[in-house]
Amino acid sequence: SKREMLDLSELLDEVLSFMYPSLLDGSVKVQEISKRETRVIASKDELRQVFLNLLLNSIDALQKIVSDRTITIEFEIIDNMTYVHIGNNGPMIPPKQIQTIFEPFFTTKELGTGIGLYICRKIIESHQGTIQCYSDEHSTRFSLSLPHITS
Ligand code: ADP
Ligand code: MG
Repeated sequence: SKREMLDLSELLDEVLSFMYPSLLDGSVKVQEISKRETRVIASKDELRQVFLNLLLNSIDALQKIVSDRTITIEFEIIDNMTYVHIGNNGPMIPPKQIQTIFEPFFTTKELGTGIGLYICRKIIESHQGTIQCYSDEHSTRFSLSLPHITS
């Protein structure tokens, strides 16, 4: 769909405010560690979908821990790419599963569809970006990158 100039942190805030009621229900805390202006040329609808999928997955994962449920959001600029890191302190994704989670229909949830991350990757790659997952016993983090506007 239509591409336009967007501020990623603004868009993420918009998605977060839309999710606010469900965040309160699950007693999940959101920490925005490094906010900054990050302009990209992208489809607003598609990136909203990416943020929503990643945040909903984080909330799902956090249901498995009992306290201090926290989502962290970090922005980083490296060369001509903007990185958005969305992390949570939920359980580890087993190393063998990390390759599989982006495949269509892979889910570990009783009512999961397994297409969320598949769609995220499709969207990000169609914007010349990358999406990766890192997970250890303390946290899981999804890092996406998109080319940004410098002028
Ligand atoms: P669904 O949410 O329907 O299961 P997704 O494609 O969004 O499908 O995610 C696929 C699988 O990846 C999930 O079932 C889960 O096992 C794993 N996963 C995704 N995000 C996270 C996360 N933040 N923490 C732990 N596991 C995750
Ligand atoms: Mg999902």
